[in-house]
Amino acid sequence: MKTSEIRSAFLDFFRTRGHTIVPSSSLVPASDPTLMFTNSGMVQFKNVFLGSEKPGYVRAADVQRCLRAGGKHNDLDQVGYTARHHTFFEMLGNWSFGDYFKHEAIGWAWELLTQVFRLPPERLTVTVYHTDDEAFAIWRDEIGVPVERIIRIGDNKGASFASDNFWQMADTGPCGPCTEIFYDHGAHIAGGPPGSPDEDGDRYIEIWNLVFMQFDRAPDGTLSPLPAPCVDTGMGLERLAAILQHVHSNYEIDLFAHLIRVAGELTGTSDLANKSLRVIADHIRACSFLIVDGVLPSNEGRGYVLRRIIRRALRHGWMLGVRGDFFWKMVAPLVAEMGEAYPELKEKQAFVEDALRTEEQRFGETLEHGMRLFDEAAAKSGKTIPGVEAFRLYDTYGFPVDLTADIARERGLDVDMAGFEQAMNEQRERARAAGKFEAKGQMPAELASQLPPTEFLGYEALESRGSKV
Ligand code: ATP
Ligand code: MG
Ligand code: MG
Ligand code: MG
Repeated sequence: MKTSEIRSAFLDFFRTRGHTIVPSSSLVPASDPTLMFTNSGMVQFKNVFLGSEKPGYVRAADVQRCLRAGGKHNDLDQVGYTARHHTFFEMLGNWSFGDYFKHEAIGWAWELLTQVFRLPPERLTVTVYHTDDEAFAIWRDEIGVPVERIIRIGDNKGASFASDNFWQMADTGPCGPCTEIFYDHGAHIAGGPPGSPDEDGDRYIEIWNLVFMQFDRAPDGTLSPLPAPCVDTGMGLERLAAILQHVHSNYEIDLFAHLIRVAGELTGTSDLANKSLRVIADHIRACSFLIVDGVLPSNEGRGYVLRRIIRRALRHGWMLGVRGDFFWKMVAPLVAEMGEAYPELKEKQAFVEDALRTEEQRFGETLEHGMRLFDEAAAKSGKTIPGVEAFRLYDTYGFPVDLTADIARERGLDVDMAGFEQAMNEQRERARAAGKFEAKGQMPAELASQLPPTEFLGYEALESRGSKV
């Protein structure tokens, strides 16, 4: 089954069960300044869950474009390392706004997976929130899943594992337990079942998360039942496609085959399983859709995330031996692959190509010098790249610090992040002092615009320290 057919089969299934099909919203959340990117299907429905917006329906389904690079969810550092993570991906979702609840949500998810998509039930393992006896009983008694494949998972605060089966929008407000469905790709792949110490492997891959919003959390932490419980589900299209196309990695599905082949041609790489080709194929999707949704490379906020992703892709091209521009040429094959599902991508093709080419040429001038500096720093400093060198790469050669950290990681090195931040702060102080001196207390606009993105980098640095890998 082709990826495009899976999209339609999913929507058809829920359409015939009374769901209104809604379009994907932008990667840039329309009405949520606290969120950097749309990272799941529920983002466009946030105000519906909070009760401040009333749509004309109580059941909805969609295919939502998502980005998890920067902000609350950041999978950028997983790309190229796991079979299942992208920065940009598509999330299939169905919702109940105060209408159906656990019984239907679980029943339909199972029916869709095992009858429409014909997944062998014995390959599926499910998790429930440890106190959610209701969901446990539905899986056991109504669906007939053997109890050894229904795993109770708590919330992971302070725990050594990563699974977390309690969802909340924020510290207060709507929240509730989740149940998740995992597919076992087979004993030949490393990794344990959810909740086990090696759950982070790629054997049991999580495909669908069903969230049951049934509580309202008060500022003092107490939970009270919501008058009208809601359902919010999300399933990764590429992960489902991998199963249905009998491959293990998302990067082996039809949609990626074409992108990876072209990346191979453009970089002169014949081994199509090469990790860098996967990263490039992932990143062209993220970058193109960000530009379609109005983000342009810049030194702060969303634009800086875009810039970081582009530069990571360019560095992978460079590693494969590319010395001219190539990345923008991936837009045409992407349009061929996804332009039908996303007409806005087709419409803006030329614009996206121009934006990428400009950024590519700009970074192309310093990439080679920066790589040389990195090699020198690595040669003389042993296991840890000093903060001042990471800063020099950032300041002089335009290497975002996560790019430097990524290169280091590939070589088994790390970066002194605290030292980097210190160097950054010192430069900020110098700039401030110079500004005072020259403009009598006023920082010149030009200088201000060159200042590093204060809050954002700190935030990202924190985020990368806290990430799983
Ligand atoms: P994982 O534990 O594998 O990182 P998750 O628990 O972070 O996944 P959810 O937040 O529950 O994922 O998102 C719902 C679904 O979206 C997941 O079950 C998965 O199918 C898909 N998904 C999540 N993150 C990614 C990603 N980075 N790339 C592709 N699909 C993803
Ligand atoms: Mg995740
Ligand atoms: Mg998970
Ligand atoms: Mg999940």
